[in-house]
Amino acid sequence: MPLSEFALIERYFRKAGAMRPDVQLGVGDDAALLQSPPGAQLVAAIDTLNEGVHFPFGSPPASIGHRVLAVNLSDLAAMGARPAWALLALTLPKVDERWLEEFTGGLSALARSHDVALVGGDTTLGPLSATIQILGHVAKSTALLRSGGRPGDKVFVSGTPGDAAAGLAVEQSRLKASAEAESYLRKRFLYPSPRLALGDCLRSYATACIDVSDGLLGDAGKLAHASGCGVELEFDHLPVSEELVSAVGDQRARELALTGGDDYELCFTVRPSEVERLRHNLPPERWKYCCIGTLGETPGRINVTRGGSVIELTHSGYDHFASG
Ligand code: ADP
Ligand code: MG
Repeated sequence: MPLSEFALIERYFRKAGAMRPDVQLGVGDDAALLQSPPGAQLVAAIDTLNEGVHFPFGSPPASIGHRVLAVNLSDLAAMGARPAWALLALTLPKVDERWLEEFTGGLSALARSHDVALVGGDTTLGPLSATIQILGHVAKSTALLRSGGRPGDKVFVSGTPGDAAAGLAVEQSRLKASAEAESYLRKRFLYPSPRLALGDCLRSYATACIDVSDGLLGDAGKLAHASGCGVELEFDHLPVSEELVSAVGDQRARELALTGGDDYELCFTVRPSEVERLRHNLPPERWKYCCIGTLGETPGRINVTRGGSVIELTHSGYDHFASG
């Protein structure tokens, strides 16, 4: 590498992210020394983004830095956990200082906004790929799991799923919309907001939770499966943004809300008797979530209904952006 590995680490990684008093030794030694709060469980997750697979070739470096942390923070949000420390494994085709500057800028801004310290990592040469391992905490036995739902629980989702899939299509010139809608949708793909504050609050209300990364229908199905239930979602209750509707129309917007990916919203379940308390203490208009269905008795039965009847969705290989 033209810039020595040591210099590169000093310049780009030593000061990235938040400063935290529980980091006794961060970037620079063979390993980091971290102090967990007493009584808390350590929560760990890891996710990789590969160029050409998880983001298009030539994506803005700041977005790659933001997203690789965001997808990991979203996993912690889904557990109701608080993030603390991140490790970054970065594989670069070459040392491009401008690229690194922007990448660490995107990563660092999101890390600081959630008080996450970058405490170590690894840097190698090869096809562009970024992996973050995130570590955080949750009070013992209070984490939200996928498996806590039971039949009759109400199913909720945060935000407006489907936007990110449309934003990716805009990025790849597969979708055209108004300038405002394009800019909103692109931002939703490039800079997702992990729902950490919501996940933290949901520990007092939700029976189960999952983050929506592979499409709401599939991820709600995973939650239902882990809970030993089926799930029924109401097509007309799916929350969709004005921008998405303006870009693809109402029907396709809801199809995208079900099957698009990269949303990083939370899908969670609440006992019917707790819904009133949830709505009262976490007003849905402020916390941006809504009820979209119910867990069912029959494991494996995953239905989308409209006006009382089950509708067919051919979501595998479905081209949302084909004309007509
Ligand atoms: P070693 O060979 O002992 O693993 P390295 O030379 O790979 O050490 O790394 C030196 C220090 O820099 C370590 O503290 C490591 O965690 C940190 N580091 C290396 N790459 C990164 C990175 N991409 N992000 C954050 N820290 C990094
Ligand atoms: Mg070492």
